[in-house]
Amino acid sequence: MIKVHSYESMGTYDGPGLRLVVFLQGCPFKCLYCANPDTIPFEGGTATEIEDIVSRAVNQKAFFGKRGGVTFSGGEPTVQAKELIGLVRRLKEEGIHVCIDTNGGIWNSYVEELLSLVDLVLLDVKQFNDGRHTELTGRSNSQTLKTAQWLEEHGKAFWMRYVLVPGISDFEEDIRALGEHFKNYKMIQRVEILPYHTLGVHKYETLGQEYTLKETPTNTPEQLDRAKALFDEYFDCAMMN
Ligand code: SF4
Repeated sequence: MIKVHSYESMGTYDGPGLRLVVFLQGCPFKCLYCANPDTIPFEGGTATEIEDIVSRAVNQKAFFGKRGGVTFSGGEPTVQAKELIGLVRRLKEEGIHVCIDTNGGIWNSYVEELLSLVDLVLLDVKQFNDGRHTELTGRSNSQTLKTAQWLEEHGKAFWMRYVLVPGISDFEEDIRALGEHFKNYKMIQRVEILPYHTLGVHKYETLGQEYTLKETPTNTPEQLDRAKALFDEYFDCAMMN
């Protein structure tokens, strides 16, 4: 059984083409800006049979076209790596392209097998500076960087995604350090900068939790231009909306 939080059909944001996005329950990070705070607790979600998810994906396969498929997001999908291995194998049998959207912070033999099976990894690097990463997420980024290295060494294609939060993850020194670290990675197919947004704030109110970034403004056009120019010194990157 897989603990599913929710689904999004025809997603265009999490991987190539049109995708069925399966949001899974549970995450060991606690990002201050998390847009889906209700996916963080390990309890909850709907226990779902593998074949129910396979059927849902097969029913939508005609819409996926050549590039689309299924993306597992969250929460943090690798929390359920052991259970996902069988599901990903079934989706591959059905000829469906599979992405996994991960913070890269969990590592064990199941995660290793899961990452070997998927077609593409969307690796969310929250901050390169470990101290600021810990302030932002509650965890060190050391495993995320090791996961990136594993992907590079094992020839697994990945996209790197970076949320640009004013005053938290937009420091030039940190972006330059990230660029220097990753600039020679051959398996990074794409780098996406995701502007900071506050779309999930109402969920904190519903959950009775405080949104600690309420004083943090969204990015100005100048901040976005500056960050894109910085990233472009190291990568051919895309600014998302
Ligand atoms: S890693 Fe993703 S799901 Fe987990 S807390 Fe951060 S933004 Fe939320």
